[in-house]
Parts: sequence; C-alpha cells; structure tokens
Amino acid sequence: MRSYVELYPQSLDVNSEGQRRACLIKENAATGESTEKELWFIYPTDLPMPEDDNCDAYLIAVLHSAMIMGTDIRVYGSVSRELLSNLTEFQYVWEKWYPELYSLVEIKVEHIRENEIPVNGAVSAFSGGADAQFTSYRHAKGKAGYRTQSLRAGVFVHGFDIPLDDIEGFFGAAKKAAESLDDLDLALLIVKTNIRNIFPINWEHHCGAALVSVLCGLNSYAGIGLIGSSDTYERLPPWGSHPMTDPLLSSGSFRIIHDGSGFNRTDKLKVIAEWSLGIQNLRVCWEGDQSDRNCGSCEKCVRTRMNFLAAGSVNPSCFNTPLCKGHLRAIIPSQGVRVEWVKISKEIIKTGNGVEWLPEVKKLLNRKTKSKLGFLFPFGT
Ligand SMILES: [Zn+2]
Repeated sequence: MRSYVELYPQSLDVNSEGQRRACLIKENAATGESTEKELWFIYPTDLPMPEDDNCDAYLIAVLHSAMIMGTDIRVYGSVSRELLSNLTEFQYVWEKWYPELYSLVEIKVEHIRENEIPVNGAVSAFSGGADAQFTSYRHAKGKAGYRTQSLRAGVFVHGFDIPLDDIEGFFGAAKKAAESLDDLDLALLIVKTNIRNIFPINWEHHCGAALVSVLCGLNSYAGIGLIGSSDTYERLPPWGSHPMTDPLLSSGSFRIIHDGSGFNRTDKLKVIAEWSLGIQNLRVCWEGDQSDRNCGSCEKCVRTRMNFLAAGSVNPSCFNTPLCKGHLRAIIPSQGVRVEWVKISKEIIKTGNGVEWLPEVKKLLNRKTKSKLGFLFPFGT
C-alpha cells in the first residue's frame, strides 16, 4: 500500500497565551509503521477564528513535506474547494521546478466547503524587514493605486526567522514592529507556531506556504493576505514565496496577493525613506547576535546600506554606526546575492548616488564567490 498522511483537526484551546489551533498529523509508512506530531498556531485572543474542522492551514502546511515523501493526504475535516483547485496547480509548479524532489500527491477530503465569500479588509505579513515595510506602508498610505487594499493589521510570526526559544529577541523585534504599524494606524497581530520546527525541509521552499498557513487562520478577520515580494519580475527564480505560487495558496475565503514585484530593493527603500519611524525600526539583519537590531556589518546589512545610498539616503537611522569601506572589504558575496550587488552597482551608475563607493562595490564583485548557503537564509527580510 502507498504511504499516506492523515490530518486530524483539534478543538480550539483558549488559554492565557491566546487561541491555540492545532492539528494532529499522522504519517503512515507503506510498511504499516506510523508516527504522529502536532502542528499548532497560537493567535491573539478576541479574534474570530475559523471553525475547528477547517483544515486549510494544516493542508497548506503539510503539502511540501507530503510531496517530498510521495505520500497522499487524507483530511478528516473541511477544505475550501477553491484551495483544493489551486493546490492542484501549485503541485505542478513545484514538480516542474524540482522534479527530483517533489512528486504529485492525491488529496482526499472529508468535507469540501463551497461558495465562500471573503470578509472585507486585508492583513499583511510583517517581519519589520524592507519588503514587509514597503508593502504595509504603500497600502496603508493608499500608494498602490487601484491595487491598494484596505489594510487592518500586520502579522508578525514568532517561530520563523526568530526561533521560538528566543523570547527576548522576538519581543524586542515585536516592539519595533508595533511602533511602526501604530504609526500607520495598523494593529500588530502576533502569531506563534511550531511549523518550522516540525517540518525539517528546505525553508527557501517552505517559507511562503508556512506564512500562508499562519495568515489564512485570520480569514474571519480579513479576506486578503498581502505578502511582500522578494524578487522583481525581470528575474524570478524558484522560491517559496513567488508571484506565481503565492496566489495558488488562496482559498474561497482568503485571497493571497504577492505584492511589490514591480519594485527592486532600492526602489522600495526610496518609497519608505519618507517614513522616518519605519526606517528607524527597519530590521534586516539575520547574522547579528540580537534578533531585534541590525549588526550593521553582515552582508545583508551592508547590502541594505548600499541600497539606501543608491536610493539617496546616507546612514539611515536603523544602523547605529556610519558605513565605512572596511564594511564592504569584509564581504565575499555568495552566488545567491551577487545579482543583488550587480543591481546596486547599476543603480549607483544610473543615479550617481554613492558613486564614491563604486570602486569598492566592483572590488567586492571581483572577490571569489562562496558556495551557495541560501538554504540557511531565513524568511521575512
Ligand atoms: Zn547584520
């Protein structure tokens, strides 16, 4: 018999931490052996939650893992028909991107929900990084033209780029996120989950689905989830959060918009440069000792400083020390980020901003590239 994974939704548990939604995941091997684990999400109290049997989030969370193992999925609860339709196509994308890793799996569902109507309003994934800040800022300020969504809150997830056991770091980062969102008249919603801990799969692949599994639990509060883009339309390599696949994680009651692929990082920083509190609280660093501040000297920090320079901002307030040549001289770009540095050099030439730094950027690009360690990069930058 083919192996299969079963999803058993659990009852909502309201306790001092918040509202805990959970699902028992039972993996049954072809040999007859089985293992169980629990996936959970903790949402703030006083928010409307989906019905207990709503398994949209659990199915989205488990799909990559099932495709890697080649196990069919049996859901003992309900799933949106539109989500099932979208996930059919979503699977083809991943199977075509990585045929050696992902195979198509069958999904059987106890109850299919039909004809759902999304509620008004949108939430935005908010980590405090440049992509999240850009998306929240442009929608909150009505700067996305006809595409502007009625944003209600930013959602910051504990358990993604900041591990669950880093409580101090998370709350420091959340405090900054709350300040930034408050400045835009938006609420901060903190959601905690163990999804990254229980699926030991490539986070570069899983990050988008993991994020949507968190956001779609808010479908009674808002009918749209905005996810800030990483790459721009002229260059879209396979990635866990992508303008092609993110919308394929939409259900009948929760639509996903991948936002901002028309803007590169320098363009985005140019837009948010006018938002002083946002710049002060911008969180881009993933290498420093503290999760709630920017070290100023890692590759990501230095690259962001150069994006700022190209955008016309010198020494933005999210970094404690001024940029110096030593910062650039210490960087050996990995294969995955070289293209970003090439873009910076082109921006400097185009705008003339930071032109005195161009020789250092060129030297950096001539340095021997390290092997690609992209799978270690966290999401939410
Ligand atoms: Zn850093």
